[in-house]
Amino acid sequence: MKKHIITLPGDGIGPEIMNSAHELLKAVGEKYNHEFTAESKDIGGIAIDKHNDPLPLETIEACESADAILLGAVGGPKWTDSKIRPEQGLLKIRKHFNLFANLRPVTIFDSLEASSPLKQSIVHGSDLMIVRELTGGLYFGQPSERRDGGQSVVDTLTYTYGEIERIVRIAFDTAMTRRKHLTSVDKANVLESSRMWREIVNTVSKEYPEVTVEHELVDAAAMKLITNPSYFDVIVTENLFGDILSDEASVITGSLGVLPSASLSENGLGLFEPIHGSAPDIAGENIANPIGMMLSVGMMLKYSFGLHEESAAIEKAVNQVLADGFKTADLKIDGAVTLSTAEMTEKIISCL
Ligand code: ATP
Ligand code: MG
Repeated sequence: MKKHIITLPGDGIGPEIMNSAHELLKAVGEKYNHEFTAESKDIGGIAIDKHNDPLPLETIEACESADAILLGAVGGPKWTDSKIRPEQGLLKIRKHFNLFANLRPVTIFDSLEASSPLKQSIVHGSDLMIVRELTGGLYFGQPSERRDGGQSVVDTLTYTYGEIERIVRIAFDTAMTRRKHLTSVDKANVLESSRMWREIVNTVSKEYPEVTVEHELVDAAAMKLITNPSYFDVIVTENLFGDILSDEASVITGSLGVLPSASLSENGLGLFEPIHGSAPDIAGENIANPIGMMLSVGMMLKYSFGLHEESAAIEKAVNQVLADGFKTADLKIDGAVTLSTAEMTEKIISCL
């Protein structure tokens, strides 16, 4: 298989972990006989510095002709007070490529169970997947403005039937590949948009008779994620609820550094990135955890290229290295040997 990937290292630890992604792609290509080519472009703070634009046209054009996009991280204290923000690059690229489906697996690795703040309530082997709508709802609805000379304010929550239906379908398809249990999260006791969301979930569910469906109010779901995270398989929800719940869910794994994500569009182009930020406090020290980035490469192979075996091999290698007693500085695993970014990358690749 021949694929062209645009890599957007971005800021902070982004370039360091992107090196790990390059190494991994090279190794997987050699082992499974694929030709992966990668080309690096600017996004975020570095793009502001070089082009005065967090998402330069050159980057968009390169991504347009790519088979998939890998992103490191954007942002940092250097640009906190700048008029143009690095994060605008990220919102713009999501919107430009219509990356409406955000998939976040929340896996509690066996060797990290003891560092979960919820170690009492998680069942061994827990994992769930959050499917978040990413290009609609409150974050994009218009009008969004101050009124009456600053005495009132309005934000707008809008969704079309089609926008809800397509994300709900992705969630059902995802549930079919897993334990076939879907929890749809909304606030239907208050919001009209949530009542429509429920109707659409119920309509689509008729096409997936094998999937058990439940509706849960977002406040109850937020509690259940803490008291009984193992209960969930796939969660589907709108943009704002998904933003909050996916951050909440990520902390129960005991580490930000190991979690990947995928943002998918209708035509198949996907953007893959670790869920953590640019971690400016440790940038340039060769101690960042590359696992979230390497698992994001795994998601890219699976969701964009259909390479399930290769993707599973990466997950297995990560599990193996952690179980063998190796870690990076951010992980708490008793008795494990601490490796640098480069060493961890090499170790995982050697386990493929
Ligand atoms: P952003 O606004 O970009 O999301 P943030 O402040 O929310 O940034 P991170 O940049 O993810 O969050 O950093 C939060 C903490 O987690 C920092 O102390 C950082 O060093 C640590 N951290 C994040 N990612 C990693 C990683 N891959 N390896 C090691 N530590 C990490
Ligand atoms: Mg953050």
